[in-house]
Amino acid sequence: MNPSEVRERLRLDALELGFDQVGFAPAFEPPNASAYLDWLEQGRHGEMAYMAREDAVRRRLDPEEALPGCRTIIMASLSYAPSPEARRSPEASPEPAMPVVSRYALGKDYHEVFEARLARLETVLRELAPRERTLPYVDYGPVLERDHAQRAGLGWIGKNTMLIHPELGSYLLLGELLTTLELPPDDAFSDDRCGTCRRCIEACPTGAIRASRELDARLCISYLTIELRGPIPLELRPLIGNRVFGCDICQEVCPWNDDASPGRDRELQPPARPGQSLRPVTMVTWAEELLSVSDEAYRDRFRGTALARPGRQGVLRNLCVGLGNSGDRAAIGVLRRCVEDPSELVREHASWALDRLEK
Ligand code: SF4
Repeated sequence: MNPSEVRERLRLDALELGFDQVGFAPAFEPPNASAYLDWLEQGRHGEMAYMAREDAVRRRLDPEEALPGCRTIIMASLSYAPSPEARRSPEASPEPAMPVVSRYALGKDYHEVFEARLARLETVLRELAPRERTLPYVDYGPVLERDHAQRAGLGWIGKNTMLIHPELGSYLLLGELLTTLELPPDDAFSDDRCGTCRRCIEACPTGAIRASRELDARLCISYLTIELRGPIPLELRPLIGNRVFGCDICQEVCPWNDDASPGRDRELQPPARPGQSLRPVTMVTWAEELLSVSDEAYRDRFRGTALARPGRQGVLRNLCVGLGNSGDRAAIGVLRRCVEDPSELVREHASWALDRLEK
């Protein structure tokens, strides 16, 4: 097989494995390398120190540092876009007393889904080119994956910093296979279809999205509720509303998601019946449940899901903020119990929430 035939065989296999898109990018420095360095320089990565580690930065800027001899980055995407029915469901615009959880976290952990499929694609590649080396990454890898995805033709990077495809929208998960095998690249996606739209910039409650297409992670609700380990800054707490884990606002308002084809992958969709949902129906019941479990029991229950990342303490901290913002005086009882929690972080956020509700 010549390189073009190998590429097409891999593309076909990747689509058969269930990926929604696959594209091939040359292993060059990512186009937004200098913007990424500026972003780090200004400290916009917040407490995500792993992003600023010297070796990690080097590998992000040069795929050869991640995989010596790297020649091609095979980018794949999976859509988790909601169906039109799911967009209209009560869960899509919950009452203030109900918790909002970022859509990607409601299904099975996408890392597992992606890793299994990339491993199968890796096997195909090894059969076709046994001497070449490969390295898969899903999200946590030292790769500026949206840059490579744009270069591989998968879409453009919108003002909300998400990768957007004209038909699939932006509810896309990305993963990649680095390889030393040189394959002909696909055409980059060169259009910027955001045009004069500014909906995501205007809708972001904390002003985290800059017109310059930069996201200040320190203000982003996803960072504050998932990555941040310490206290949530006081001035940002009222702006978080009932978002207990992540935030999809900049995607919900994006017109490119209005008619996006729904994701086909059942594993990435929220459970069909409410009783199967990972999160309880109200923030009060969720907080009550967490008060009665240990950190270890929480880890066991949510192992293999995105909700494992902030741990019991992080989710309970976020619930206190959500309950304080809910205006629901029925939450006062559970917040008084949170004030007695062994975690100082939870106690402080519960006191803040009680003050806010009692005022
Ligand atoms: Fe671009 Fe508008 Fe979507 Fe923001 S909301 S990413 S500006 S199209």
